Amino acid sequence: MAKLAEALALTFLPSTCAICRGALAWSGSRAGVCPTCWESIVRHAGALCPVCGSPEVGTPEPCLACRTAPPPWRAATSVGPYEGTLRELVLLLKTHGRDEIARPAGALLAGAFRRAGWSRPAAVVSVPMTWTRRVRRGYDQAELLGRAVARELERPFVRALRRGGRGAQVGRSRAERLRLPTAAFRPRRPLAGAVLLVDDVFTTGATASACARALRGAGADEVRVLTFARTPRTGRVP
Ligand SMILES: [Zn+2]
Ligand SMILES: [Zn+2]
Repeated sequence: MAKLAEALALTFLPSTCAICRGALAWSGSRAGVCPTCWESIVRHAGALCPVCGSPEVGTPEPCLACRTAPPPWRAATSVGPYEGTLRELVLLLKTHGRDEIARPAGALLAGAFRRAGWSRPAAVVSVPMTWTRRVRRGYDQAELLGRAVARELERPFVRALRRGGRGAQVGRSRAERLRLPTAAFRPRRPLAGAVLLVDDVFTTGATASACARALRGAGADEVRVLTFARTPRTGRVP
């Protein structure tokens, strides 16, 4: 039986790793990525700011930005820096329709969740992409990650947010447009308890802030933000 499964896998699955292009080993490969690439993922190793998840301060105390302008979420963390294999995985998920990566990525996200020592949320939600992009791509990668995390944590996934996009830009000056938020989020349903917000990449925190405000407006008691990767050395936008 194992022989038949192997023969079928060799026939129908890609034979080279989607990241390093090396031969795809039968054992240890997941989602078209070889075991060496999965093992090469760099996770955060040192202390992270307990509020924004920044690795730059190197102490378990809240960083200066979080002390002076606390964000609308309770805590944020990520698997590791947005570089190397983590970055490749995000790009595969985003641009190559490799939605099968979401399941092993969900296990990595659950690992970051446990490392942070958070208690399990009432619900898992994700940062929604615009409706038009969702239709064009056929799936929403943050939702795939959110659903994978929800499975790992055995909590319900809820499609809690709607993305407004930049529709209100027409007729505004460039200066006015630059002051507009990058995206507007509206709740789709009432929420309660602690909510875990999942996204692929944490950059300035502006998107997480906009979502956290919408989630709290919908009734969530607190929001924690779990992302796959974090871009290094960026100023947080409160
Ligand atoms: Zn590889
Ligand atoms: Zn911080």
